[in-house]
Amino acid sequence: MKCFYHEAQSSHAPKHFFLRGQPAPSPEQPVRAERLTEAIDTAGASLTLLPPLARDPLLLDRLKRIHTSRYLDFLENVVERWRALPGASDIVAPNVHPCGHASFYPRHIVGQAGWHLHDMACPMDEGSYTGILASATTAQAAAGAVLEGEAVSYALCRPPGHHAGPERAGGFCFLNNTALAATVLRERYERVAIIDVDLHHGNGTQDIFWQRSDVWTGSVHVDPADFYPFYWGAAAEVGDGDGKGYNCNVPLPLGANGIAFLQALSRLLSALAEFNPQAIVIALGLDAHKDDPLAGMTLETEDFYRIGQRLAQVKGPKVIVQEGGYPTDSLGDNLAAFLHGFRRG
Ligand SMILES: [Zn+2]
Repeated sequence: MKCFYHEAQSSHAPKHFFLRGQPAPSPEQPVRAERLTEAIDTAGASLTLLPPLARDPLLLDRLKRIHTSRYLDFLENVVERWRALPGASDIVAPNVHPCGHASFYPRHIVGQAGWHLHDMACPMDEGSYTGILASATTAQAAAGAVLEGEAVSYALCRPPGHHAGPERAGGFCFLNNTALAATVLRERYERVAIIDVDLHHGNGTQDIFWQRSDVWTGSVHVDPADFYPFYWGAAAEVGDGDGKGYNCNVPLPLGANGIAFLQALSRLLSALAEFNPQAIVIALGLDAHKDDPLAGMTLETEDFYRIGQRLAQVKGPKVIVQEGGYPTDSLGDNLAAFLHGFRRG
């Protein structure tokens, strides 16, 4: 398995985000990538470090297929524009959001920040855009390797991406790396599936492909009635228009264990079988582990081995894209277990 990482991801290192109204240390830190690169080594896989970032018109073109141009412009320029405001904080943190209906897109940066930053868990500072772009570049490289003939590749991406929609950041996510990988695979394959096994619903991914029948999206996660992202991820959400029947959500109760998770994954894969995908993207969250600070499920490290084993049995070339999973003593072990299981599948 070829694994990819871009060291410039570490330039996104926000010190804090807002949790229950209070500034709290952000768990989405460069140390995650350190733990995960060690795990790749433990699992005996090869890690390719990507070359320094350069202007990449192809990446921009692909990103425009999943995000709006004004959102991409916003991400590139927001920090400078925000800091030009009198009395502004270092970290971009909007205090107003267009809940419900908005009549028009505002010109002022405070209005735009509230439009594009869905919640208080997507802090940006001066290094953020570089890190965000490096993360997307990593997903693109891993998907490109599969286009060139690799059977499976892994993208060590941080910040993660699956909460990022067409023009909204949220939940530590800015550019949707998983959707980008699917977009690259679509250049060769007509039917691509995304299987999201992160603790949280992949609401951004669902939103991007909501009306499309060429990319099937599925997610196992904690019931959003009780957990982030709160407003999306119910079983009744099946897509719309051309995409009706091409989205599958399998929510689980808060605190669900590995047995329940694997049963839910089996249900998701049964629903996927009808789509008959030609290529797969796996949105790999490791935050369902019992020690993860986000505390939503109670999976053991061995459960990630079984999840890897089960997903390896799905036919077709695969790109594994790292999503959540936060610093604990088990984080690296969970990735190593997943990769071992995947290899044994
Ligand atoms: Zn997550």
